[in-house]
Amino acid sequence: MKRCMTLPAVALLFCFLLGGTGVSLAADSGEERTIPVIEWMCWSCGKRYFTFAPDTLDGKIVQHKDPNFQQSRWLMLKTRSPIKKCEKMFDGSHMFDKKKEFMTSAYVIMEQIDNYVVIKGGSAIKAKINHVWCVGCQKNAYAFAGDDLDLWDKVSTREVTAIFALRSGTKIGACEKLRLPAGEALKPHIFAQKGAVSMSSDAIAQYLGSFLCSN
Ligand SMILES: [Zn+2]
Ligand SMILES: [Zn+2]
Repeated sequence: MKRCMTLPAVALLFCFLLGGTGVSLAADSGEERTIPVIEWMCWSCGKRYFTFAPDTLDGKIVQHKDPNFQQSRWLMLKTRSPIKKCEKMFDGSHMFDKKKEFMTSAYVIMEQIDNYVVIKGGSAIKAKINHVWCVGCQKNAYAFAGDDLDLWDKVSTREVTAIFALRSGTKIGACEKLRLPAGEALKPHIFAQKGAVSMSSDAIAQYLGSFLCSN
């Protein structure tokens, strides 16, 4: 544990050790809406999709009218399979209008993940991503900057925090490694930041299995 001593999470860990069963930190900011996304609607079939800003599906761009371009470059976030063809157009190409750009949270993205499109060969998205790791079990993961991974509310040593795997939408299990002095397991993973990274939306799709989020 010695090399963890400089990490803020260790201070948190000491709070657990000294404070018994629970520790009250700053209130959970709840849904941290820190991720700029864009909503698109196809004026032909009416389907709605989302992209991470500034990824664009804008139908006014000439290249975007090409069904082959759409099928080779517009992939679904969850599966990296091509976007479904437009059912209303003879050549299967959607014609997207930008509806709005807004801020959302990773938890909301998780709930609508089947409607998220990424762009193959796209550039870095606006949202920043943190590389994190658990000081207990060394689990490595990614989380969108602003997501507190549920560590800033009243955290109980006996309850697993509400942290979800972004791709599957299922809660991750307890930390297997952290122990209280009496030998009792400290269930929540304690995530510390390794650093911020920039990613394209397609890189997020490729690493999606390592992304975590909290509610
Ligand atoms: Zn369409
Ligand atoms: Zn852990």
